[in-house]
Amino acid sequence: MSYFKPNIDAMTAYVPGIQPGPGTIKLNANENPYPPSPKAWEAFAHVSDEELRVYPDPAAKVFTAVVSEILGVPQSRILAGNGSDNVLAAIIHAAGGPIAIPSPTFPYYQTLADVEGATIIEVDTNERFNVDFDALAKVQAAVTFLANPNNPTGVAATVEQIDALAGQLGGLLIVDEAYCDFTDITALPLVDKHPNLIVTRTLSKGYSLASLRLGFAVAQESLIASLFKAMEIYNLSTPTIKAGAAAYADQDHKNANAAKILASRNALATELASREWDVIPSEANFLLAAPPERNGEAVYEQLKAKGIFVRYFKQPRLADYLRITIGTDEQNKTLLAAL
Ligand SMILES: *Cc1c(COP(=O)(O)O)cnc(C)c1O
Repeated sequence: MSYFKPNIDAMTAYVPGIQPGPGTIKLNANENPYPPSPKAWEAFAHVSDEELRVYPDPAAKVFTAVVSEILGVPQSRILAGNGSDNVLAAIIHAAGGPIAIPSPTFPYYQTLADVEGATIIEVDTNERFNVDFDALAKVQAAVTFLANPNNPTGVAATVEQIDALAGQLGGLLIVDEAYCDFTDITALPLVDKHPNLIVTRTLSKGYSLASLRLGFAVAQESLIASLFKAMEIYNLSTPTIKAGAAAYADQDHKNANAAKILASRNALATELASREWDVIPSEANFLLAAPPERNGEAVYEQLKAKGIFVRYFKQPRLADYLRITIGTDEQNKTLLAAL
């Protein structure tokens, strides 16, 4: 017997990247290899006793004011959450299903559908992992997810493709821009035009703050107002709000790290290609690449034995490949030497 709903009993739990601990090289969760802005910790450490004593601001206005200023989007169009995953969950709580996703994509969308008991429809990408936009539009789901650039492939769709899709869909289109700090492509300017479009972003990747848990959505006012109702109240602590605001304000720090990562990514892609690896062109801070023998799992295990953790997905389409997060140049050198 069970105390829970049948969909919870039936679902498999989300499998995160292994957290291997000190002395290892962790290239398995697309974290930023560089430290966050020192201003984040400064803000975090200077929260007062009084600020800890009282409840935080449910609207996180200190944070959304900075985002508003930097992105040129009114605060009424921004909703902050405990990581972008928290915002995505609120969207599914509020909108339900059916849910359409390209395949392969970020596995958390499946988890959200499972928890909600919503139907999920997967639309296969082509052999180079490009999204089939016509097929995705035809599903006409209540919610369509598009991670752009996509995870785990690194492939990005164009703004024109997203614009056309948003126009064709009767339901919501969620453009998950977790990796927007590593590409020039963004759907943000389309929010004005499409009342069904939600763009989500996070401080976990570009801002080196995966542990802080802070992300946000940008959409037209009425969508943001509805989603706010579906969020847990007080889901962001005052230290998180203040540290996030300070980190977001420090665009120079984020941009400098992103530039280093892009240079390293391009160098690693070139080197792997010269070793006959099949490298999928990436717009993100990771590479999806298959060794020449297409023995992804064996190479994953061999690297793991040497204390280098990359991500392996034992599933159709991905079984040949490894997803390698771009590390520091030192880490990438160690990786290449091990390979
Ligand atoms: C990493 C990632 C996220 C998670 O973001 P959080 O803000 O840390 O919850 C969301 N979407 C995609 C596609 C990701 O790869």
